[in-house]
Amino acid sequence: MTASPLAPGWLTVPADLNELRPQGKPELFPASAARTDQGELSIGGVGVAALAAQFGTPLYVVDEADLRARARSFKSAYDAAFAPLCGGADVYYAGKVFLNTSVARWVSEEGLRLDTASGGELAVALAAGVEPANIGLHGNNKSDQEIERALSLGLGRIIADSLDEVDRLAAAAGRLGLTANVMLRLTPGVHASTHEFIATAHEDQKFGLSMVALPGAERSDAAEAVRRCLDAESVNLLGLHCHIGSQIFEAEGFGEAARRLITFLGQVRNEHGVQLPELDLGGGYGIAYTEQDRPSTPERLAAGLADVVSAACQSVGIDVPRISIEPGRAIAGPAGITLYGVGVQKDVQVSDDAGQGLRRYVAVDGGMSDNARPVLYDADYSAILASRSSGADAMLSRVVGKHCESGDIVVRDVYLPADLRRGDLLAVPATGAYCWSLGSNYNYLPRPAVVAVLDGQVKVMVRGETETDLLSRDTGVGA
Ligand SMILES: *Cc1c(COP(=O)(O)O)cnc(C)c1O
Repeated sequence: MTASPLAPGWLTVPADLNELRPQGKPELFPASAARTDQGELSIGGVGVAALAAQFGTPLYVVDEADLRARARSFKSAYDAAFAPLCGGADVYYAGKVFLNTSVARWVSEEGLRLDTASGGELAVALAAGVEPANIGLHGNNKSDQEIERALSLGLGRIIADSLDEVDRLAAAAGRLGLTANVMLRLTPGVHASTHEFIATAHEDQKFGLSMVALPGAERSDAAEAVRRCLDAESVNLLGLHCHIGSQIFEAEGFGEAARRLITFLGQVRNEHGVQLPELDLGGGYGIAYTEQDRPSTPERLAAGLADVVSAACQSVGIDVPRISIEPGRAIAGPAGITLYGVGVQKDVQVSDDAGQGLRRYVAVDGGMSDNARPVLYDADYSAILASRSSGADAMLSRVVGKHCESGDIVVRDVYLPADLRRGDLLAVPATGAYCWSLGSNYNYLPRPAVVAVLDGQVKVMVRGETETDLLSRDTGVGA
């Protein structure tokens, strides 16, 4: 079959629509994904039809071994690369991408720490039994309660995002007779998107302390924050932090940000005579959602960053600080898939600048409530027929949800078998990050269950919602 003129340039017609790992294309499915002899997709040794029958669809399925292996590989790669420079590296799993007590325990068992960004995420980490010393608290607008709770618990690090927060942290710690372990989030002026980065001086975004002084100001907010932290007896200033973006494939942006922060560490040393002991280079490592993505490996990323950090510290003349990173998507994303049931289909004759052809709309039983990323970010995904194999021709299709929005798209462009029918199961890979966590109850759809699969066993991580759950907070029910 030739490509549809409606298809985007990067989308190729698969030689075999059933193939999970087409040659020369990036891996989209979790490591344990396989086709059974009957043609059904299985994950973790469990067939998708049995999962759908037991838990319904949509359903999030997480390959536990795959997620754990990704966590482990970041820890071991960064430890190995930074061992000669600063004794190793700390890896904080960015909980916001996918957090529940099971996953918090998994990453802890794999030697990672845990980043939270709200009181709620912190509550999950604590409920999982994560040591407060291994938890970080982020957020650009922490409440007084969040700050006091973090201090009382003795969190390993609180990442201060503004001068206001530095002052409130110092005051609250003083009031409570405690010490605040503080990292300062700086905006290094490096914006990385998927394949490139832009380096600027000024930052026009809500996060972080600017490294550039405002007109007429004596020093930048970042420099002022360092001064205030060092002056405050209740503050233990650990170091600097940055996070330059998300879904980044090229290492240059991380390297440039590291150089800028290390230069700043040198200025701190010159002005105050102290070498701050820690440097966090954030997360943002890209993963493959479709065949157009070519992610790097933790080993290559770590080695490249270690070279940059080592050279920059040498040129500034400081010891290499303890390095930490905060991957989220790259750990959870590829480990998860979403299963959907196929419902209504319709074909539309479309003509656009590229030509004309048929587009098939395939409606599934979820949508923007279980995966908001296509609506939020125009994110691309892929999909495959999961409940059986098919020898039918490829049909350019658009997988859409069941919500009352025409933008409710799950997969914008994908070739699916032309014999797709009601009741088939579709699997959308790489939905382990930012899908369940961004989920909503739009149209009063109950949020799906999340199950973990491992060695033929299924474990419910979070049960699916019921209509009773949906009505449970409505005080007018039965009134
Ligand atoms: C979201 C976030 C991360 C994780 O980003 P990924 O792209 O998922 O790796 C890390 N650090 C901070 C501060 C974040 O906000």
